[in-house]
Amino acid sequence: DRLVGGQQVEEDMYVMPTVRPQIIQDYIGQVAVREHLELAIHAAKMRGEHLDHVLLYGPPGLGKTTLSHIIAHEMGVTLRQTSGPVIDKPGDLAAILTRLEPHDVLFVDEIHRLSPIVEEILYPAMEDFQIDIIIGEGPAAQTVKIDIPPFTLVGATTRAGLLTSPLRDRFGIVQRLEFYSDAELEQIVTRSAQILGLHAEPEGALEIARRSRGTPRIANRLLRRVRDYAQVKGDGVITQPIANLALNLLEVDNLGLDKMDRRLLEMMVHKFDGGPVGIDSLATALGEERGTIEDVIEPFLVQQGFLMRTPRGRVVTDNGYRHLGLVRTLSDL
Ligand code: ADP
Repeated sequence: DRLVGGQQVEEDMYVMPTVRPQIIQDYIGQVAVREHLELAIHAAKMRGEHLDHVLLYGPPGLGKTTLSHIIAHEMGVTLRQTSGPVIDKPGDLAAILTRLEPHDVLFVDEIHRLSPIVEEILYPAMEDFQIDIIIGEGPAAQTVKIDIPPFTLVGATTRAGLLTSPLRDRFGIVQRLEFYSDAELEQIVTRSAQILGLHAEPEGALEIARRSRGTPRIANRLLRRVRDYAQVKGDGVITQPIANLALNLLEVDNLGLDKMDRRLLEMMVHKFDGGPVGIDSLATALGEERGTIEDVIEPFLVQQGFLMRTPRGRVVTDNGYRHLGLVRTLSDL
């Protein structure tokens, strides 16, 4: 498991449920998304209707699941949670849909991983609140339409482009979550520290924030690790020097890059002259899956300006060279 990976890992299970914001006021950052949702929720409640279907996309750990909890809470309805790969058969999804109460929120994580036949069930469900069920087999089989309660589907995915267009088109609200600023992450760390009964000095919280790759899930995870260090090596207080020492020990550098990021950049510099290199060649050279590079490693490096995606492939930028302590020489160009 990667300490600075955005994906949920087992250790998150212990800390996350307690620090996950439940109401919209506690949801820090993502101002545009929040405003949009607050307005839509308000309007839906005024009309006494269900909220339009919501698609949330963005890298893992930015708060998509959290938002789905908040939407349900603000709408005053129950949240049902599932995920694309878990729903095996159309019947599984039909069972979930028929058990919903009016206006409930159904959260489907990794919605791009629904199988095509399961996805087919969703189209009429989302559009007309009906599902088609096949009764009987062979020539005697009949399709029966069943009404389901009006509900809100909240779908989450790492990239909107992974969805089929018929599915994407059925969402009335499509919002992209952005990486958080250091100041926002500092607020998140401070809030989590309070909930966990820890004393974090502002500079200590900021040091954790800076190395959290714009991702609340990573910030909370690093906070947990720094807490351990502070308790063993200090007096429990999360100060800047303590955070710095703890994170250096964990090989998370001053911008939040870890060994895997540095390996990718170094591989590109030493093996591919800094690029352009195709994603598949890179995946083979690193022994990683293409999807892992695209979803997990690359977005942050691109966002930091260390890596560029060009039509001819990936290229390490001058900033990328500098971060590795290297200078691009004329012969590299
Ligand atoms: P995703 O579903 O996008 O992978 P989550 O919603 O599970 O991410 O968020 C991961 C963790 O980060 C949550 O447990 C929550 O504690 C924290 N978190 C996410 N977004 C925010 C936010 N805007 N404010 C405060 N904490 C947040």
